[in-house]
Amino acid sequence: MRKTVSILGSTGSIGKQALNVITDLSDKFNLFGLAAGANIEALKEQIIKHKPKIVSVQDEKAALELKKEFPKLEILFGREGLEQIAGNKQNDIALIAVSGTAGLYPTIAAINNNINVALANKETLVSAGSLVMKLAKEKKVNIIPVDSEHSAIYQCISNKDKDFIKKLIITGSGGPFRTRTLKDMQNATVAQALAHPKWSMGSKITIDSATLMNKGLEVIEAHWLFNIDYKDINVVIHPQSIIHSAVEFVDGSVIAQMGIPSMHIPIQYALTYPQRCKGIESETLSLTQVSRLDFEEPDLNKFPCLKLAYQSGKSGQTYPTVLNALNEVAVEEFLNTQIKLTDIPNIVEEGLNKHNPMPANDLNAIIAADKWGRDFAKNLINKYLIKK
Ligand code: NDP
Ligand code: MG
Repeated sequence: MRKTVSILGSTGSIGKQALNVITDLSDKFNLFGLAAGANIEALKEQIIKHKPKIVSVQDEKAALELKKEFPKLEILFGREGLEQIAGNKQNDIALIAVSGTAGLYPTIAAINNNINVALANKETLVSAGSLVMKLAKEKKVNIIPVDSEHSAIYQCISNKDKDFIKKLIITGSGGPFRTRTLKDMQNATVAQALAHPKWSMGSKITIDSATLMNKGLEVIEAHWLFNIDYKDINVVIHPQSIIHSAVEFVDGSVIAQMGIPSMHIPIQYALTYPQRCKGIESETLSLTQVSRLDFEEPDLNKFPCLKLAYQSGKSGQTYPTVLNALNEVAVEEFLNTQIKLTDIPNIVEEGLNKHNPMPANDLNAIIAADKWGRDFAKNLINKYLIKK
């Protein structure tokens, strides 16, 4: 039977690859909705090519512009638009691939309407993991991870093995500064920080990969998805990005998931789960061509963001929400060439030190903590502003 899918964040890196997957498996999927932010030109092309039943954009002006060109199409906007598309009962599954905290609301809308979620947006679980996982359990909704590390772990754990996990091993390439000095990082340009050695992704996550905040967010994401204590989640740097993550079981057996570094594979797995279908990559993994796999400890002095993420995860309450909000603002300011790359952890640390935590079990507390973090980071930018 065909599955009906909506893709939120369709003009982004994950969204475009998801459209490749459903086009390639057109006998398996119907497309229902598409949601984008501000890239209206790309969305127009997608509407013509993929013929969604409903679309949403970030603001009303863009929605009106689109309406002129597609008068018969239902066009929504804003947070409500995202929620209506993700939560529409026609969906069998909603892929949440918008970037940033904007992913939280449509994820909740989908779960509330008993729609399975393919979750690419990691900020949702970092910011509101307790709330989202509790709701998903209540509603008996599957949250199938798209993030490659979490997809790997999901694939390594069959249901019967859940009680026998000893620890999770999350791998990461180490990003563009793995072999560079701290001084190189201090002077890094936006272009250098965006030059990821293994993955081509949106700019926010690529900067997070350069500071290793991405691994930190992934540790928190894994904690919520798999209900594993932080002390049992290890990060290992693996520059070849062939092992996408692994699980150690109580008997000492370690199961890892491998493949070429391609997001098509975890996106497809999340959409076709629990089935597997022929993939769209023509290249497959050749271990002899890769020839060696290297592993090293992450350098927490060079990459303090990873340490801050562990600390805020372990401290719990609204600390991870605030970590995420502070980081989102700081990354944006770095991308706008206002602050140095190495000031991102400084801003995050200052904010975490000043935060008065609250229990993170209701949406209002999360929204308030998120706002507090954003305001705090914005007020701090002047202190770190690059003199031009
Ligand atoms: P991109 O920046 O490439 O794309 C983001 C998408 O979200 C775009 O379609 C953008 O629209 C849309 N968007 C952003 N804000 C809003 C909003 N307020 N309302 C509606 N749409 C919005 O990001 P990625 O595809 O790289 O990443 C998406 C998510 O997946 C992130 O949370 C990231 O952490 C996660 N992820 C990504 C991976 C990757 O390989 N790229 C791997 C693992 C996780 P527009 O461009 O039209 O403005
Ligand atoms: Mg990842």
